[in-house]
Amino acid sequence: MPISFYEARQQILDKVPLLDIEKVPLLEAAGRAIAEDIVAPQALPPFNNSAMDGYAVRIKDCATGTTLAVKGSLLAGSTAVDKAQSGTAVRIMTGAPIPQGADAVIPFEDCQEGEENITILQTVKKGDHIRWAGEDIRPGDQVIAAGTQLRPAEISLLASMRFATVPVRRRVRVAILATGDELQDINELYFEGGIVNSNSWALAAAVREINAIPLMLGIARDNLSDLRAKIKEGLQADVLITSAGVSAGDRDLVREVLQEFNVQEQFWKVRVKPGHPTAFGMCAKTPVFSLPGNPVSTMLTFEEFVRPALLKMMGHHTVLKALYKATLTEPLKKKPGRLQMLRVSLKIDQNGDMLVSSAGDQNTGILRTLVDAQGIALLDAERDFFAVGDKIDVHLLGASTALGY
Ligand code: AMP
Ligand code: MG
Repeated sequence: MPISFYEARQQILDKVPLLDIEKVPLLEAAGRAIAEDIVAPQALPPFNNSAMDGYAVRIKDCATGTTLAVKGSLLAGSTAVDKAQSGTAVRIMTGAPIPQGADAVIPFEDCQEGEENITILQTVKKGDHIRWAGEDIRPGDQVIAAGTQLRPAEISLLASMRFATVPVRRRVRVAILATGDELQDINELYFEGGIVNSNSWALAAAVREINAIPLMLGIARDNLSDLRAKIKEGLQADVLITSAGVSAGDRDLVREVLQEFNVQEQFWKVRVKPGHPTAFGMCAKTPVFSLPGNPVSTMLTFEEFVRPALLKMMGHHTVLKALYKATLTEPLKKKPGRLQMLRVSLKIDQNGDMLVSSAGDQNTGILRTLVDAQGIALLDAERDFFAVGDKIDVHLLGASTALGY
């Protein structure tokens, strides 16, 4: 009995192992998940400094209308001068340290500047335009949780606190094996009945998109000896993905050969469309995904089953894409019994609501519909009809899909 889409994904996530932790230079960690909780070793900002170009003053000297002599000048990067003397102001630039004793900064535009003095024009309050040491982050604060993906904001925080290297999990090395007698390499001259192996390219691109490392093993023919040799090689990687040869056809030998290598099959066949014959197994600690060969099935089963698994192995705490509720603009019919991964067009209406419709012919053989799609709708297995106005679950495709208005 085929298992459900959600059971399949859960079994996969339960089985795949976490990879080892390595320390890498900060920029190499961008986009990856940090492997340990990060505790701030220091305060941010590290010292009291000015948020504006202006004058550092003591508020008790600053009744409206008072004139203060300007004594000294502080640029960003200069060391704090001696204590601010009462009855004076220190010229100060944004980012420069606040002189000891000063407790406000008056921006240029808020005072009247004379030859060597300034006149206060408005009320000055304690702390005006001062960034206090530690107001952003105090030493000992937990600032980034293990498993967080490092976006430019987290990289900025880590750099501010002088983390030149950071702990991340190894990038997963993913062996990609296409199988099929009809397959040709991209550069090979066309032969009759030949189909270009596009799956390896699609999978490699998808693996790269999440900062993992694709290893293209090329094509194994539909015979035991070729499959054995290539699968043996693939099992050296952290993960093996095969495409095609996993249905019930006469030459569908992938599962048989995997079994010879002691791959413990966890499931074969999922109540999902497309992607029904998907198989998943473990060879000791190496996950093996056997994806159906149809390019659309290959890509969608990667998207829903393999991508989350690879992210988990690399230590991400968020491995599933966010689901949004989108409003259907056309009725949809499907057969009950299998969850459908529908390729959809998405747009945002004047109210900011997300609208969804089919991206085109949903036949698995139609690649173009996937090219035209911005997202995938996950249509409940048990339902057979969705009406205009129904809210359905969708997620975006790709790392940075933008939606048109
Ligand atoms: P199979 O699962 O072996 O029955 O293959 C299903 C369909 O996918 C067939 O039409 C194959 O020609 C096609 N196919 C299989 N592997 C690839 C591949 N690597 N690239 C493009 N199409 C493929
Ligand atoms: Mg085949």
